[in-house]
Amino acid sequence: RIVYVNGTYVPEAEAKLSVFDRGLLFADAVYEVTAVIDGKLLDFPGHMARLRRSLAELRLPSPGSDQEILAIHRELLARNALTQGHIYLMVTRGEADRDFVWPKDGTPPSFVLFTQKRDAIETREAVEGLRVITVPDLRWGRRDIKTVQLLYPSLAKMEAKSRGKDDAWMVEDGTVTEGTSNNAYIVTQDGTIVTRALGHDILHGITRAAIMKVAGELALHVEERPFTVAEAQGAREAFITSAGAFVTPVVEIDGTPIGDGRPGPITRRLRAAYLEAALAQAI
Ligand code: PMP
Repeated sequence: RIVYVNGTYVPEAEAKLSVFDRGLLFADAVYEVTAVIDGKLLDFPGHMARLRRSLAELRLPSPGSDQEILAIHRELLARNALTQGHIYLMVTRGEADRDFVWPKDGTPPSFVLFTQKRDAIETREAVEGLRVITVPDLRWGRRDIKTVQLLYPSLAKMEAKSRGKDDAWMVEDGTVTEGTSNNAYIVTQDGTIVTRALGHDILHGITRAAIMKVAGELALHVEERPFTVAEAQGAREAFITSAGAFVTPVVEIDGTPIGDGRPGPITRRLRAAYLEAALAQAI
């Protein structure tokens, strides 16, 4: 693979960051993951808008204009001949001697991008659905900032895997916040799509924003409110969204099958409609 690091395109084995990089020492860094289908970027403007917001919240310097960042994405797609998968982007506060106090203004951020080849459309998960467990949400209070502080979600996912399941939904004060790397939804028995409202407690998913629009176009009713694990287990359908998984069904929560235990029709319609809409706007 050819990766991008601080202005250069290099083979991955030659790409290096300092051991003093604040991304490594403090998780002082934000990231984005943009899906690629047919060599095109999905929801790119949304990912740039969220990146700007994450940078501003942490007062991290900008690594370049949206046009410059788009050009790097395109160059990486070309150099790696990537048609399906995604591009990971990370901005850290750069290199400085280890100190809780930030380095002086003008310290250049570290800027890294790389491609990951994935077949994201015809996946087993999309066809069969995910089996999830629930775990307490022990993350920090600003989950709306897309930081690389992913230790707890990684532990939660490993707990799911160790129990033979696919993923974990996190629960706080009795209601589901989100999945380890995705937003969580249920479809009630009367056909309403329910997902937690935006706030500091969840990531503002780019795919979430896109499917809210798609749901409106399909005349599906959406309610933004918290839901409990018990309500989810009694739902007609459940699903998750992310740039990596698009819309993926959830067929089991803590051992309880959802609906008839198979991916539901509303989830399937949303996935197809999301992919169609996102591809029509891909750049
Ligand atoms: N929530 C969390 C915690 C995530 O890590 C992600 C994926 N980055 C999402 C939601 C989904 O966001 P998006 O649709 O922008 O990929």
